[in-house]
Amino acid sequence: MRQKIVAGNWKMNNDKKETTKLIKEIKKSIKILPLKNTRVIVAPTFVNLSSAVKKAKKSKVEVVAQNMHQAKSGAFTGEISANMLKSIGIKTVILGHSERRTYFGETDSILAEKVNSALENKLETIFCFGELLEDRKSENHFKVVENQLKNGLFHLEATAWKNIILAYEPVWAIGTGETASPEQAQEMHAFIRKIIEDKYNKEVAENVSILYGGSVKPANAEEIFSKPDVDGGLIGGAALKAEDFTAIIKAI
Ligand code: 13P
Repeated sequence: MRQKIVAGNWKMNNDKKETTKLIKEIKKSIKILPLKNTRVIVAPTFVNLSSAVKKAKKSKVEVVAQNMHQAKSGAFTGEISANMLKSIGIKTVILGHSERRTYFGETDSILAEKVNSALENKLETIFCFGELLEDRKSENHFKVVENQLKNGLFHLEATAWKNIILAYEPVWAIGTGETASPEQAQEMHAFIRKIIEDKYNKEVAENVSILYGGSVKPANAEEIFSKPDVDGGLIGGAALKAEDFTAIIKAI
């Protein structure tokens, strides 16, 4: 049975104090929840990862990174390697977020390198992708998503997929308050599973968790998560308040 996952991408929010406070609150509020087969993940900014890992220790909250550089080490001022993340207890990294693609020029081929580096270092990867509004308007969204997956992930062996989580985040739904309808999310997730099955096999397709991201809120989470191919969410704004994040976890 594939895992259900609710992940909070905190983006460039929360200083050290706010980070540990929010983790403390989430820990407390999910303690009593029956989280069978469900993972709860938070992704604070790099500088607060160490303190977040410490705060989340021995709890159901997993702390992951929002990004990393593809190189092992070297002259890459301001960057962070997979090994550095591992050395502070990080086991999972988000790669390919649309903000990384748009504002920091991360191309499919850079992302393929990042995925390789993460997996070589035994870091599980949450791989993000999704179409722009103009792609959807021109009805190119399936093609765009297929290309992002092909270019970023389809060079992997089938066995590598046990360390991959997918996050479909239509760019037009991120931070806009405009969610993809549950039907649009389901349609795309089913399509993703189909192309993975065509490329690999049914087992890989059935076992990979596919999260939806883009304006998920307590009010719409239950309906989105009720769709058979939606295995959880990657949450931005609503992950910054323990109350909202917990409500979304309950919806799963
Ligand atoms: P919002 O939930 O704020 O739309 O952000 C989604 C997102 O980008 C998560 O990675």
